[in-house]
Amino acid sequence: MIIDGKEISANIKEKLKDEVVKIKETYSRVPKLAVILIGDNQASQTYVRNKERACKYIGIDSLMYKHDSSFSEDELLLEIEKLNCDDSVDGILIQLPLPDHIDEQRVIEAIDPDKDVDGFHPINISKLFLGKHSLVPCTPKGMMVLLEEINYNLDGKEVVVVGRSNIVGKPVSLLCLHHNATVTIAHSKTKNLKEVCKRADVLIAAVGKAKYFNHEYVKDGAVVLDVGINRDENNRLCGDVDFEDVKDIVQGITPVPGGIGPMTITMLMKNTIEAFYLRNGGKNGI
Ligand code: NDP
Repeated sequence: MIIDGKEISANIKEKLKDEVVKIKETYSRVPKLAVILIGDNQASQTYVRNKERACKYIGIDSLMYKHDSSFSEDELLLEIEKLNCDDSVDGILIQLPLPDHIDEQRVIEAIDPDKDVDGFHPINISKLFLGKHSLVPCTPKGMMVLLEEINYNLDGKEVVVVGRSNIVGKPVSLLCLHHNATVTIAHSKTKNLKEVCKRADVLIAAVGKAKYFNHEYVKDGAVVLDVGINRDENNRLCGDVDFEDVKDIVQGITPVPGGIGPMTITMLMKNTIEAFYLRNGGKNGI
């Protein structure tokens, strides 16, 4: 089974669109997301454009703040402070990576945790750790929704997450743990990676290495979630998993492109609506 993130994400977007209509009827305004982009990183510009497009489609207001790479940390902190205080703004997203002269962690910590739609603020990370999560990082959240959509029950399953970044590997491991999986987090220093991965009922590949995981890493009948976004030898987009090599032995696999990627943006939209409800005390209908 190919787990079609594009289609699943399109269905969720329709529900989010309806939710925004309801919000507008009840609160006489729609949720608003502020996005800050600094510098001219091509990939970041594309991501921001896609986020803007998704907002427009769902009916969320988007405010774009684009600055050249000389924008200072102090100027950025001031801008965040203004957005924190602006009651009409429900979500704040700082497009990462930031230029070297800006302290990323300091900036993340400056965002009001209730507006932190990326879920990177230490308060939101702590809530995730405690299982009391509200705003959860978008890519891990998207993976959990995909598993739900295919009715995959993680109870007692062996999950191996390869990659331990703060934005993907660690949060998705916690989410799987909260769903009663037995979780192993592997990384570049893990010994016998093939054997470790081969144990997995669910293999989550998040290393950023083109087609790194072939059938030698994948158990027959496993579910494979491929987070990687890489270019192959022909400069085509590909994941961390060698899709062609494993597709016939797995129970399900997310393709790249069209798997985890579309879910990430959709979860950002969902988080923006959740942030709206968090701040307006309304009942979250999504
Ligand atoms: P990072 O570079 O922050 O982390 C990579 C992780 O992989 C590290 O923990 C590293 O280990 C581990 N690793 C690297 N090489 C190996 C190896 N040979 N064997 C085992 N572990 C290894 O990456 P991110 O988590 O930010 O992203 C991972 C991939 O996911 C990238 O391709 C990125 O583009 C993609 N991505 C996709 C998203 C989407 O929406 N689809 C969203 C976010 C990321 P160590 O810690 O020891 O260095």
